[in-house]
Amino acid sequence: MIKKIEHIGIAVKDLKKSEELFEKLLGEKPYKTEDVKSEGVTTSFFKVADQKVELLHATSEESPISKFIEKRKEGIHHLALYVDSIKNEVERLKGLGFEFISTTPKKGADNKMIVFLHPKTTNGVLVELCEEI
Ligand code: ZN
Repeated sequence: MIKKIEHIGIAVKDLKKSEELFEKLLGEKPYKTEDVKSEGVTTSFFKVADQKVELLHATSEESPISKFIEKRKEGIHHLALYVDSIKNEVERLKGLGFEFISTTPKKGADNKMIVFLHPKTTNGVLVELCEEI
């Protein structure tokens, strides 16, 4: 079952400058900065009430974030939905015709297991499903 919007991921070119910008905007410092080696990114998380904003900064040219910024510039990268069971949601959504980039959960940032739906079946929006580890 989908429980809530967990966070919105934003691709940024300069993490330090963007952290300062979002700190001004949200009135809070990031509560966590974390490298996710498998994705080639450094992430920085801000709390906004019960939701989060995740800044994503590429650590290599092969990173999906580098490719995203090359094609589409900085901006909203993905919408993350918090689910109680990735396995059940993958089955449910596959049954409804949604396609996934991969249906095998992998470790994401902030103690979550994650999978991504393919944007071609979600109106061009990259959707992440995440579950607490
Ligand atoms: Zn995310």
